[in-house]
Amino acid sequence: MSRYIVGLTGGIGSGKTTVANLFGAKGIDLVDADIVAREIVEPGQPALEAIAERFGTDILANDGSLRRAQLRQIVFTDPQQRIWLEQLTHPLIRRRILDQLNQAQSSYAMLVSPLLLETNQRQLCNHILVVDLPESLQLERTARRDNNSLEQVKAIMKAQTSRANRLKQADSRIDNSQQPDSLNKQVDDLHQQFLSLATAHNETR
Ligand code: ADP
Repeated sequence: MSRYIVGLTGGIGSGKTTVANLFGAKGIDLVDADIVAREIVEPGQPALEAIAERFGTDILANDGSLRRAQLRQIVFTDPQQRIWLEQLTHPLIRRRILDQLNQAQSSYAMLVSPLLLETNQRQLCNHILVVDLPESLQLERTARRDNNSLEQVKAIMKAQTSRANRLKQADSRIDNSQQPDSLNKQVDDLHQQFLSLATAHNETR
């Protein structure tokens, strides 16, 4: 079991998935909070039933799956509904993340989460790694990837913690302002560091 957990975070479109895949290619077990968040609202899951009860069955598509865009629209415009949804889903997400982390076998494991610093997921981590880049680049890359307008992406970025606040809480930072191949060397160096940190951590337990 991996006992040393690195939390990887960054704003939307900062490059978390891109960076996480590089660690994954080194054999590091990854737990992705975005994937977990989708799993807990799959058809048959109690959270989806609670959501349909509150918002009506219109929130479900014909195949019984959640209309995510519709739900996002509701909670984005009504803070009360957002609080309700978070109180329902966050404990379930945390529980499932913990289960998956407990199954990790690599020298250290990585929890990839856009809301690591905004939720108590950070308490699951021994080390916080932030993917950093200027907000203008983040905006541009996200809009291109998601085919969204700059305005839509700006609204999402506003709801997330700021670049400065993220960096203040970082134990390590990875610079993703350059070409993707500039990530390889940084990931190599960080991987070596994390291996040492994990060994030291496990020895003192
Ligand atoms: P996140 O998981 O943080 O939302 P992604 O890893 O999906 O971010 O990256 C956002 C988008 O930017 C993707 O389309 C990705 O391919 C692209 N991207 C990531 N890093 C770079 C880079 N260094 N240069 C150019 N595009 C990048």
